[in-house]
Amino acid sequence: MPPEPEEPPPVSNAATIAGMQELWPSLGSAGHPELCYRRCLHFARGVCSHGSGCHFCHVTTHPPDRKMQRSDRELLHGLSLPDLLRVTWRVLAWRIQARRAQAEPIFEVLALELQDAQRAQSQGPMGPMGPAGRRPTDQELQALQWSLSRSSMNFASLITFISSRCRPASRDQLLALLAQMTQEARP
Ligand SMILES: [Zn+2]
Ligand SMILES: [Zn+2]
Repeated sequence: MPPEPEEPPPVSNAATIAGMQELWPSLGSAGHPELCYRRCLHFARGVCSHGSGCHFCHVTTHPPDRKMQRSDRELLHGLSLPDLLRVTWRVLAWRIQARRAQAEPIFEVLALELQDAQRAQSQGPMGPMGPAGRRPTDQELQALQWSLSRSSMNFASLITFISSRCRPASRDQLLALLAQMTQEARP
């Protein structure tokens, strides 16, 4: 039985000024560009029948989807959790700087995951392995970080991906905190 997920820590509302609600063209646009859902393809082509109730992002300046190269995606998916957190940390911090105070609890959960994963790794019989059966070099990790920072994976999609690699309790906590941030960005 996995342990019960802990209550997520309360998120500070200091950044949310009463009455200063943000306006979004659709439900899925809340928190654009870092917390929104993917760009709505119907809306981009001209008409979306869901209107403001659409769960995808309707911000007209939404950048087109930029995928990472296949080799980069494979490298990303094969990383050990500590390497994954090292590669994504700065990209996450950079992406969410406008809402940094609200995102602090998410970084705290990630920091605890990193500590734990590093401890587990140092006790394991073998070091971390990449897809090629060896640990990626620092240069490879830097190149991956660069490619990630240029991709269209926003803060929300990166956290969702990272959470799938964390322990169940941390995963639930990360997703709850993310949902809370999106909720706060909604009018
Ligand atoms: Zn958007
Ligand atoms: Zn739409």
